[in-house]
Amino acid sequence: MGRMLSALSPRLMETGPVDLKMAPADKMWKRGRDADNVEWLLLDMPGRSVNVVDEAMLTELDAILTELEANPPKALVIRSAKKSGFIVGADINMFRNLTKAEEVEAALRRAHKVVDRLAEVSYPTVAVIHGNCLGGGLEIALACERRVAVGEAKLGFPEVMLGLHPGLGGTFRSTELIDPTEAMTMMLTGRNKSARSAKRLGLVDLATEERHVAAAVAAVARGELHSAAHEGLKDKALSSGPGRRFASNRMRSKVEERLRKEHYPAPYALIDLWETSGGDVDNMREGEIKSFADLLVTDTAQSLIRVFFLREKMKGLAPKKSDIGHVHVVGAGTMGGEIAAWSARSGMRATLADLAIKPIAKAMKPAWKMMEKTLKDSVKARDAWDRLIPDPNGYGLKGADLVIEAVPEKLDLKKKIYAGLEEGMKPGAIIATNTSSIPLEDLRADLKDPSRFVGIHFFNPVSKMQLVEVVKHDRLSDETLSAAMSYVTSIDRLPAPVKSSPGFLVNRALTPYLLEAMLLLDEGVDKEVIDEAAKDFGMPMGPVELMDNIGLDVGLAVADELRNRLPVPIPEAPQWLKDKVEKGELGRKTGKGLYSYDKDGKPQRGKKHEAIPPADLKDRLVLPILNTCAACLRENVVEDEDVLDGAMIFGTGFAPFRGGPLHYARARGVDDVVAALDKLAEKYGDRFKPDDGWTKLRQEQRAAA
Ligand code: NAD
Repeated sequence: MGRMLSALSPRLMETGPVDLKMAPADKMWKRGRDADNVEWLLLDMPGRSVNVVDEAMLTELDAILTELEANPPKALVIRSAKKSGFIVGADINMFRNLTKAEEVEAALRRAHKVVDRLAEVSYPTVAVIHGNCLGGGLEIALACERRVAVGEAKLGFPEVMLGLHPGLGGTFRSTELIDPTEAMTMMLTGRNKSARSAKRLGLVDLATEERHVAAAVAAVARGELHSAAHEGLKDKALSSGPGRRFASNRMRSKVEERLRKEHYPAPYALIDLWETSGGDVDNMREGEIKSFADLLVTDTAQSLIRVFFLREKMKGLAPKKSDIGHVHVVGAGTMGGEIAAWSARSGMRATLADLAIKPIAKAMKPAWKMMEKTLKDSVKARDAWDRLIPDPNGYGLKGADLVIEAVPEKLDLKKKIYAGLEEGMKPGAIIATNTSSIPLEDLRADLKDPSRFVGIHFFNPVSKMQLVEVVKHDRLSDETLSAAMSYVTSIDRLPAPVKSSPGFLVNRALTPYLLEAMLLLDEGVDKEVIDEAAKDFGMPMGPVELMDNIGLDVGLAVADELRNRLPVPIPEAPQWLKDKVEKGELGRKTGKGLYSYDKDGKPQRGKKHEAIPPADLKDRLVLPILNTCAACLRENVVEDEDVLDGAMIFGTGFAPFRGGPLHYARARGVDDVVAALDKLAEKYGDRFKPDDGWTKLRQEQRAAA
């Protein structure tokens, strides 16, 4: 029936003889044998929108393989019955809170047995892949003899993002099947391959459309679908020890450019595994199991798994699908231009208004570049481009569901604009402000309907920064808050609800860190030594370079603002820094700030420094962040500790493998953090005084112990 339907309507999914409506609901694998004696297995895990690999699913597959032994089919098809895709990977819930490598190893051995069994059956097998085929899903597909990718299938090994490498045969099946350097690159970067590139690599045998699936399966059954042979010269060179050693060293130095071994051991473990055992399937299997089990119980993997769930939690904060179809942005400067472009890229109509035509025009070229780069498809980029509408006369206002104001940071200007917006917008529309520092209570003062006003605070650059703070105030309605949260998720950003308070979360937590770096510079500590210490802790970039990126003028203005409005001591910037701002040496944007920048925008660094950093350097930089986070939690700037950690990771890049600032504080020991702050306060002054927020965290930790 599936075949008949697909002949009529190529959009429907080919399910061979399986009638999904009639299939037993309690089974994950829906089965049927067609007239040509081909067995179809369709995975449809109950109660889930996507398929995953877990123990129960593999046990059921194992039982089916046993049954098939008695009555072998001419061929076996494995595909997913979910529209969403093939299999997204292992059920990551299984990986949480594991501490015993031996237990992981035992579970892996059971899983390997089933997948190895699939790889060894006597009849041809084919995985028909649509949508996401990732991690464990790709490993099951690789255990099949053939792979057919359908439509926009995506194949990849994302394990490295969780501090792992493939653990269900992926390390040896991929390196055996295709050019091993390509396979290793996939596993080391976690990047996905489209159906077409997978075909080019030989990872799939055919990339086709849904309407050809039945014919492809028939070809497999007849033994007529052949894989591209992959025994090139390069593969031969790499099958020898010295060739692999050479390639491994190159991979290692590439990884070293991005990730430190002590922070992220997985890619290094993977390279070691392939270097020592590549080409020897049994040794690779054994090494893969052991290495995966060891990695899974490391703090790094457990923290990165936590980060995965933090992301899910933040996505889940939006209560519903967004019904915002049209965004009108007022102010086409640094932020407004990108906000409009990013909204258009995400499928919304976006009108972009400004007082002047010039900023609108200036925003368009980078918008196109961003769309081309991030959508990687000229048709999609053109569609997105069509949705972005320059609107110097502000005609878009009356039709917009959401109006985002991104004009300069001046209270009176913003308030004046809101009066006009309220006049012209349609009933029920929302006004959002991108303000970084003006209290929303002040901004909303003259609004007719303040319940429809909210802060949507983006970070620069919008296309790279995943976090968006959704700022609440005393008159905000729940409905507007949820609409804002849903809008943020619908543009593929992560929302963190925050209270309207000075600096919200991210700017408030970053400021003492940046200023401490400035004080260290003032004391004569070299900028590169400071940046290195922060990177050594796990920050993606040091505070000196970050200050240059933010702009010295902006950084100092934020610090002044916070100093005026917060009851905690925030140090004054050294005079030479203020002079720099006066001179226009503002950072990367002017080619010179604390570093000088070459024409490609790269900071010019001196020779590697041998200077011994002060012993408390890392704590001086990092603990002020932690202290501010404890204060923000105590003051309910962010209500949920997980969301706070997530916001700091996705908004500032706070060392992801440490699981967030408060997670790090708990792992290090709240007592220890407070003692270290006390010591710093004694030596350097009150700015390090532990916040009262630690008391509760300390009690919780003691109670749990
Ligand atoms: P910007 O100066 O680059 O752009 C502001 C734009 O608003 C200019 O193009 C200007 O012509 C336009 N404008 C001025 N008056 C206007 C009016 N009456 N009607 C329409 N347009 C008008 O500013 P920006 O850096 O994009 O900042 C905008 C807002 O976003 C500010 O509230 C700022 O605090 C906030 N913000 C900035 C950053 C950042 O990194 N730049 C980050 C987060 C939030």
